[in-house]
Formats: sequence, C-alpha cells, structure tokens
Amino acid sequence: MKKYVVRCLDCGEIHSSHSLNCKNGDDALLRTDYSTKQLYPADLPGIWRYRDWLPVHDIIEEGSGRTITYRSEGFAAKYGLEDLWIAFNGYWPERDARMMTCTFKDLESFPTMQLIRELNEERIMVVASAGNTARAFAHTCTITGQPLLLVVPGASAHRLWTTHGQNPSVCLVTVDGDYFDAISLAGKIASREGFVNEGGAKNIARRDGMATVMLDATLAMDTLPDHYFQAVGSGTGGISAWEASMRLVGDGRFGSKLPVLHLGQNHPCAPLYSLRSGTDAVDKSCPEGMYDDVLYNRKPLYAIKGGVKDALDGTGGLMYAISNDEATYSQSLFERTEGIDINPAAAVAVAALVQAVEEGNVWHEDRIVLNITGGGQKRLMQDHPVRLIEPSAGVSADDPDAEDRILKIVEEFFGVRL
Ligand SMILES: *Cc1c(COP(=O)(O)O)cnc(C)c1O
Repeated sequence: MKKYVVRCLDCGEIHSSHSLNCKNGDDALLRTDYSTKQLYPADLPGIWRYRDWLPVHDIIEEGSGRTITYRSEGFAAKYGLEDLWIAFNGYWPERDARMMTCTFKDLESFPTMQLIRELNEERIMVVASAGNTARAFAHTCTITGQPLLLVVPGASAHRLWTTHGQNPSVCLVTVDGDYFDAISLAGKIASREGFVNEGGAKNIARRDGMATVMLDATLAMDTLPDHYFQAVGSGTGGISAWEASMRLVGDGRFGSKLPVLHLGQNHPCAPLYSLRSGTDAVDKSCPEGMYDDVLYNRKPLYAIKGGVKDALDGTGGLMYAISNDEATYSQSLFERTEGIDINPAAAVAVAALVQAVEEGNVWHEDRIVLNITGGGQKRLMQDHPVRLIEPSAGVSADDPDAEDRILKIVEEFFGVRL
C-alpha cells in the first residue's frame, strides 16, 4: 500500500506529490491522505519522529530540530491559566530545542527539501521571502547541497544569518523593492525552464511539516487542546494546525473535538483579520512600522477551499488584531516569566492569548497551546558564531531587465546554462 496520496479537496482526484494546484482548475488546496491513521512516533531525530505523517520516506539526519512542548508555569500564573502549554520552536538547549534558524520555518524547509530529493528533482528551487523562510531553506540546502535561489527584499537581508560557512548551493539575490516585488520576480523566474517553485502554503510538505507542532503538543499532553494560539501572516500554520487536529481526531485516542484556532495579526497591517471581520484593518503604509513584517502577506490563502476561512469556520476560530504596544508588553512579560527570548512575531501570539483571556474567549481551566513560532535567537548567538549570507548580486525592482539579470547571476553562480 502507498504511504499516502495527495487529493484535491474539491474534486477528490489524486495528484502527484509535488503538485501545487488541482489539475482540473479547482480553487482548492490539495491535501495529503496518509494510509496510517494512528500516530506512533518513530525513534528518529527531530521532526522525523513524525515521519508517518510526513510525505517523505527517508530523512535528513542533521535536520534534527523539532517543536518542544512543555507546561508553562511562570507566564500561566500571571493570567491564572491552569493548563497552558508552550509549543516552543527555536533554540533553547536547556529544553533540548534545537531549531538552528530559530523559527518554525525549519519545520517546512526540511520535509520540502526531502520530498524534492526523493523526486530526484534537479532543477533549482526558488524561494522568495522576507526573511525567516529564506533563512530556513538556506540552512536546509546547506546540509543537503540542493541548489537554491533566494530572492529577498534588500531590507530583509539582515535576517539571512547562518551558523554555516560559505555555501556553494545557495545563491542570494536581493531586490531593491518590497516583499511583493521579490515575490513577483521570483514567480517569473520559477516558471522558467530549470527552476522549481516551492509553492508556499499550497505545498503539502510545508503544511504537513508545520502540522507537527500540533502533533508534538498533543503527544506531550496526551489529548488535543481546547485552544490553539498562533501569529499568522500567510495563515499556513493555522491551516496546518487544523489539518493535524483532524488527523488526530481520526486517530481516536486524543479526543473528538477540534481545538479552536485563535490567530493573531499585527494591527494596522492585518489582512486576515480584515477578511474575517469585514473591517478595513490594513493601512496604506504597511508593512512599514510593523512589530514584525513576517506577519504581513497581502494575499493569504483565505477563501480557497481548505484555506484559512475553512480552518476558522471548522473550529469556531477567531482572529485578533494586536497593536505594537500590546506585543511589546507581552514579549517582555513572556521573556521574563519563561526565561527565553522570543521572536517578535511570536509575541503577537502571546498578546492574542492575553486578549482572549481578557475578553473571556478562554476559561482559566481550558487546555491551551501557545505556539511560540520563533525563539532563542539571542540564546543561539551566545553559543554559536553566525554570519550573514553574502548576496551574489542585487537587482532593482524597477529595472525592466531584472529577470534576465537574475538568470545571468544564477548561471554564473551555479556554472550552468539555462
Ligand atoms: C512565518 C512566521 C509566522 C507566520 O506563519 P504562517 O503560519 O505562515 O502565517 C509566525 N511567526 C514566525 C516566527 C514566522 O517566521
């Protein structure tokens, strides 16, 4: 029997494992259907512990990071929460958390690259990102040697640090423009011969990798939680948590009620909050002035079948709009009470939990999972020397020849003809 099939959520037709869209043109996500319906963790390092529900057969040994779920004491006590669990994604050796790029994007990049390897993909993968995704893919490709083209807005280049030395498989091009200029350029390149697009939220390997946050939390607690909190940009993590919950309900041992999704965005740059509430919560200046611009995505997968809307509807979920002041306050309170630095995006989730407590959306005795999507970067830099990845070149978004220029840069970098 096959380990899994990939199915369109609309027409139900089976697709190949690297498909991103329904071949019949349905506006729907594809989803993995695993033949194993019960989750038994494997005796493997890191995320590979959940290999049964990852769309891969083999593992990348060094990709050893995974979510670490533990019960909160300090922060929980501040708000009288009796059953709060932290799903920590990042670096915190005292708790055996070893995600070397310090965010849960590592959970996406390793299964994505492993799937690519198993498909004998030789084309160059293209990733456009405002930072954390690019850092995670660069890390993975340094380990696997898979060729990678990163297209990153110049203003985000400071996020591209690495614990590795100079790397012949990662070509970094900075774009003088915003994230959307970078995405649009990367999209044009990816559609050319010789390149493959990683696909974002539409990629089953990315979603199933992120879904391991819920798997880890549920195994640690021995039941599904009542509530799940996360800060979102594209919403991929929210969709993944919902998909994992449905698989865990199907397992039969962890409860039958889907956890309520509580998803936070940063006001006034909160497109998903806008779509949900029907209010206009997106300022013209966005993403300028955001607490963390990784939470800004102008085209999140909201209305598509199986997207954020369905995930919220299916769980009775709620969206939150968090101000910078709320995020600042929550970040420092969390860091003080839990004893680890967290990524600014994660602080938005903490603040959403605070709002939920204040508004009575959760009860003190409820079992709650708070996804700390990134943390321990300061902690990591105490232990490991890091350096910035050197851009191979920069292009201007206004340059009509930008695409051709990038192709030349790539040909030179990898010594290939495209
Ligand atoms: C990407 C990212 C998010 C948002 O994740 P999505 O589920 O893709 O919207 C939150 N926090 C951190 C640290 C991130 O890097």
